[in-house]
Amino acid sequence: MRIFAKNIFYFMFQRKISVRFAPSPTGPLHIGGVRTALYNYLFAKKNGGTFILRIEDTDSQRFVPGAEEYIIESFNWLGITFDEGPHKGGQYGPYRQSERKAIYRQYVDFLLEQKLAYIAFDTPAELETQRNEIPNFQYDASTRLSMRNSLTLPHKETQALMDSGTQYVVRIKIEPNQIIQVNDLIRGEISVNSSIIDDKVLYKSADGLPTYHLANIVDDHLMEISHVIRGEEWLPSAPLHVILYKYLGWEDTMPQFAHLPLLLKPEGNGKLSKRDGDRLGFPVFPLQWRDPKTGETSSGYRETGYLPEAVINFLALLGWNPGDDREILSINELIENFSLEKCSKSGAKFDYKKGEWFNHQYIQQKSNEEIAGLFLPILESHAGAGFACPSIDKITKVVGLVKERVNFVKDIWNQSAFFFVAPTAYDEKTVQKRWKEDSAERLKELITLLQAVTDFSAKNTEQTVMSWIEANTYHTGNIMNVFRLALVGEAKGPHIFDITEIIGKEETITRIKKAINELG
Ligand code: GLU
Repeated sequence: MRIFAKNIFYFMFQRKISVRFAPSPTGPLHIGGVRTALYNYLFAKKNGGTFILRIEDTDSQRFVPGAEEYIIESFNWLGITFDEGPHKGGQYGPYRQSERKAIYRQYVDFLLEQKLAYIAFDTPAELETQRNEIPNFQYDASTRLSMRNSLTLPHKETQALMDSGTQYVVRIKIEPNQIIQVNDLIRGEISVNSSIIDDKVLYKSADGLPTYHLANIVDDHLMEISHVIRGEEWLPSAPLHVILYKYLGWEDTMPQFAHLPLLLKPEGNGKLSKRDGDRLGFPVFPLQWRDPKTGETSSGYRETGYLPEAVINFLALLGWNPGDDREILSINELIENFSLEKCSKSGAKFDYKKGEWFNHQYIQQKSNEEIAGLFLPILESHAGAGFACPSIDKITKVVGLVKERVNFVKDIWNQSAFFFVAPTAYDEKTVQKRWKEDSAERLKELITLLQAVTDFSAKNTEQTVMSWIEANTYHTGNIMNVFRLALVGEAKGPHIFDITEIIGKEETITRIKKAINELG
């Protein structure tokens, strides 16, 4: 009958889709948290739902200043937008749990009245003693009657203790030996015996704040969350959450759960950690973060030079796939194809090299002009003072010639510096191998030849130079190698005549003269 009623409810009033990302501001957002938020966002967009940002800051001990701002800035950079949140407002606010103190207290009182929770006075020292005496001590049905709480103390004494300001906590009273079922959209049905769950603390008189579990459930209910999509590390809390929904009488509107697979180390053995990033040289945070206590700085995807689109695409495929072998998907394609059913149960290896590959792909996809805009500040910082910045047209052409060689915009400098500044030294090995007796003589002739060229386009210059080489039966390789050495300073770079077209006639000749001077 119950199940029937529930189905009817869902049929008749198709539940509005509403999801939330609920980080605790205890430090920089981990890249796994970014993926969780992304999946919530994709799910909301796909289903025409609402996406809420809620800051779970009830643990004042672990609160880190700046963390909330960091979270919001990260999502701004990535283009993941919330419909409601502390920075935007909305109909379910406030969106910071520390500002919802008064709301939680009434539910604590309700649970106490219903005898589904009780007051406990055990001090940390007393709990420690129990832990030392009883192996695998757990505060639950088997031990609660030997502890100092409202179940063991006379009512009057409990009241007196509370009146005198003795600190207490409120614990949930878990009924042992019940089968608790969690229905997870990714993992299916999970059954747990309630005896393994302890009487978790729901509220602390010390700060008048609820703990994570209570605040999380109350807010998901009040904010009418339809789906809780979160990391696998929260799966062990789910049975307790199911019990809380039941105790609070909200079973019928309990959200659907979906626990996302873990992000694993690149080698696949165990959970991805910050240390893996330090060890292998990749960021695990979206933005650079400076720890306010230690002053230690951790690198971020943004500062490392990732494009936000590439990060989104990379993360989207860590634990989900579109059902075919497509890899490059725009945000709209991700939204269109997203479903929780296509999320995998098993952990996803954090293949950071693949992340670099995605960045490479997105650099190729973007117009040369856009990449030139991103490269401009990098170019200016390298070229130094007194640098006459070339036109954006010229930079755009250079970008077009070298971008296929880079994974990051900043690496364009290494591939293209010679377009902007003349070589200051010549690679010794190349000089030894390529600079011949007659090189200076040939280059002098080349200068005369080039001086007469009026159309300095790659095509025309190439034809002119090639005909000259042919007419004189010179060795093409010998000439081109020293020509390149004069222009670039080493044996690398794109097609020579693409270089000459871009740097122009005057600069080409100046560089050849300089090489003759210095290499003789
Ligand atoms: N505050 C928890 C966190 O930091 C929220 C977990 C959940 O989404 O229920 O991830």
